[in-house]
Amino acid sequence: MTLSQIEAVDAVIVGGGIAGIAIAEYLARHTSLRLRVLEQAPRLGLGASGKLEGWFHTGGLYSGQDDGQTFMNCVNSLEDLLNHYAPHFGARCNFRLQETAPAVWEPQIFSSADGWFNPNPVYLIHPQSHCPELSRSGLQGDRVQMELQRQRVFRRLEAAYGGRHNWSRGETCLAPTYAQVEQDMGLPPVSLLAENLALQDYCRRFDQSFQQPPSDYAFLRCRDAAMDTYAILRDLTASALSEGVEFETGVTLEKMNGDRYGPVRLKSLVYRGAGGARKHLKAQIFIFAAGQSLGPILEELHLRARLKRNLSAMIVAYPALSEVNFVRMSTKNAFHFNHFVQSVQRRGKRLTYSLLANSGYASADSPENADIEPLLESAERYFGAEALYNRRLWGYDCVKTELVSDDEQKRRYSYWIESAPSSNYLCVLPGKFSFFPTVALQTFQRLKSLIPVPVVAPPSSPRLSSTVLAEAEKLVGLPYPQQLLEEHPPGAVEAGSDKMAL
Ligand SMILES: Cc1cc2nc3c(=O)[nH]c(=O)nc-3n(C[C@H](O)[C@H](O)[C@H](O)COP(=O)(O)OP(=O)(O)OC[C@H]3O[C@@H](n4cnc5c(N)ncnc54)[C@H](O)[C@@H]3O)c2cc1C
Repeated sequence: MTLSQIEAVDAVIVGGGIAGIAIAEYLARHTSLRLRVLEQAPRLGLGASGKLEGWFHTGGLYSGQDDGQTFMNCVNSLEDLLNHYAPHFGARCNFRLQETAPAVWEPQIFSSADGWFNPNPVYLIHPQSHCPELSRSGLQGDRVQMELQRQRVFRRLEAAYGGRHNWSRGETCLAPTYAQVEQDMGLPPVSLLAENLALQDYCRRFDQSFQQPPSDYAFLRCRDAAMDTYAILRDLTASALSEGVEFETGVTLEKMNGDRYGPVRLKSLVYRGAGGARKHLKAQIFIFAAGQSLGPILEELHLRARLKRNLSAMIVAYPALSEVNFVRMSTKNAFHFNHFVQSVQRRGKRLTYSLLANSGYASADSPENADIEPLLESAERYFGAEALYNRRLWGYDCVKTELVSDDEQKRRYSYWIESAPSSNYLCVLPGKFSFFPTVALQTFQRLKSLIPVPVVAPPSSPRLSSTVLAEAEKLVGLPYPQQLLEEHPPGAVEAGSDKMAL
């Protein structure tokens, strides 16, 4: 006989990454549903949500795409953050509207000791005439494409963040619409253009590495930021705990029980807890936020969606290579490169390190690892080989799970929330960590279309006692780069199959 303990909640969430945690927190704050989050890893946030670069996207990186949808998703997610998180989390969510000109309010980051966002700006490097990618190709078509991209970047960023749109509507925040962002307002004045001497030096060194004289660059200071993903995951978990959400880690999902005739309706999940005990968990609604493991779950639910799993490489450099966050907005993939500096307070110590990435990727289903050589090569060109290899460096790769768009050529970074009519489950893929405010809010809206949801007025601020914060700290794992730095303190000998120490 197989013994199982039978329990019941209102909603169960499978997956304790940013999607699962943000959804649980938002539902706990706005409803009286009894909620349980199940995570297979020993801690929360160890999947893609613990391995990312930590770039909070407000649209800068996607402003040059021919289709403006991803840009708008970033803009809208910032609006959701400002409306639903900033008032509730106080100084922790340190993005606010500030009056930048009479009667014009815009999103800005303010310094805060516990803040989720680093106020250090992110610069977009826009290559112009004679840049290496153009002088090497010599093709007129490349020049035209670069100019088109430049115009889109300047126009969209200026429309959203250049003082043309007033984000304040009384008590709430209102982002510009798609139409407002897409209308052609002409380029100048471009208020986001910025100077940065260190960045000029990096670009000069970059050009010299191609044996060519310095070329022209435009630097734009965008509203993107480095985010402390651990602090976000911990604070959301703490808020969820204080609203009664149960978290269970180290679980193994064994079975989904449901009606298989007509639209699938689930009745219960069977899983083993960390200690091996078998549990039979009944719920009214089932939310799957299982990241790269979502594929088999979709199949079992007969949900058709084309998911693609790609490996992307990242490099951690300690100490940081520079204080400047920057990304090269090239039209050529081989020239894509970005540098982000993470500076976080952990266990009483400040940790400051660089994360290097580009837009390269390989299929996660091929035996190949993502290639870190292009990243090393770009970093050498900007910072010089000596500065680079004098640091402690690790390369690692991580799986990005994305929805495949109708046009195979395009990568989709959009969030995705899916269910079948008359079903009682939702499958969620956030596309980006940054989209957590929208994903949480939209999941709540979708849920209301599936079951009667007991909505309650949210508390004005989270009840984050030191006990609840300590409990959340035990539950959430450190981001992978910080684990590496903790496991390999200076002087220790680095080893490991998936880590590269130089
Ligand atoms: C290299 C890289 C860099 C990135 N950089 C950025 C960035 O800078 N900014 C940004 O916004 N986004 C970035 N992203 C994207 C971002 O990391 C993801 O979109 C986001 O973290 C995905 O969150 P998730 O909750 O869906 O997945 P995950 O964080 O992977 O969480 C899913 C969880 O589900 C659990 N799970 C799976 N199956 C089961 C099961 N059967 N039972 C119980 N639990 C289960 C997993 O263990 C995991 O913890 C990056 C991604 C990669 C790969």
